Amino acid sequence: MIKVENVSKDYELDDGTKVTAVKDISFEVKEGEILGIMGRSGSGKTTLLRALRGVEHIDAGKITVGDVSVDAGSSQFYYNNLKKETAIHLQRSFGVWPDTVRENVLRKLYARRYFDEGDTNFEVAESEFGEEADELLELVSLTHKKDHYASVLSGGEKQRLIMARQLAKQPKALLLDEPATMACPKTKQEILDAVKKINKELKITVILVSHLPDVQKYLADRVILLEDGEIADEGSADEIFYNPKHEYTKGLLRS
Ligand code: ADP
Ligand code: MG
Repeated sequence: MIKVENVSKDYELDDGTKVTAVKDISFEVKEGEILGIMGRSGSGKTTLLRALRGVEHIDAGKITVGDVSVDAGSSQFYYNNLKKETAIHLQRSFGVWPDTVRENVLRKLYARRYFDEGDTNFEVAESEFGEEADELLELVSLTHKKDHYASVLSGGEKQRLIMARQLAKQPKALLLDEPATMACPKTKQEILDAVKKINKELKITVILVSHLPDVQKYLADRVILLEDGEIADEGSADEIFYNPKHEYTKGLLRS
């Protein structure tokens, strides 16, 4: 379970002025649920997700993911523990190794036990994690590409490989920031289908940041609307999109 309690986060700009990106936000996410976070650009979505990830220290409140909690006073040690609980998939793409698709997954699995994916012993990785690698590749529908070099993958395939690598860490939650926003329709659908399958089969909790209504409608069980760092509306995806109370979501219905 994920619990966000009265979380706030400010940024200090170079000239000393403060920008409040997230203001006193509280919500819970049930195990296995897909929570969507919507809102205009600058409404605080990425900041909130980065805080959940443990890469952004919060100024007030408390975040709990599974057995790990952090608050404003927590040391880096606890934020690092939070990072271990979650996998993140950010807007910018992560690097992959110039190996095959399967080797890329094996490296991450190897690192889960031996800490250094750069120094992967593939013989050991194969015998200890070979089956798990195949399961992960099946999950993201890359079995047919497993022996291809990662460098020749299409955009959507590369995104799915990155997801498989993140899942190799056995995170409690998958945090997605604008997945598939820049992708063509086919690629986008492949990525969204992979997220759906991952959620169903692994029963992993997903927090999905996307400003795209169709992405939220397709995936989210429940949606939170952020405005200027605060929760402006919250409800099931059906309530938010088909019976909107908020001007922003009413606008989406009209458009
Ligand atoms: P969103 O993802 O919804 O577009 P962000 O979380 O990126 O929103 O940004 C929320 C607010 O915080 C915006 O006003 C943005 O300009 C500001 N902000 C985000 N990151 C930083 C940063 N590293 N330094 C200063 N201000 C930031
Ligand atoms: Mg953002």
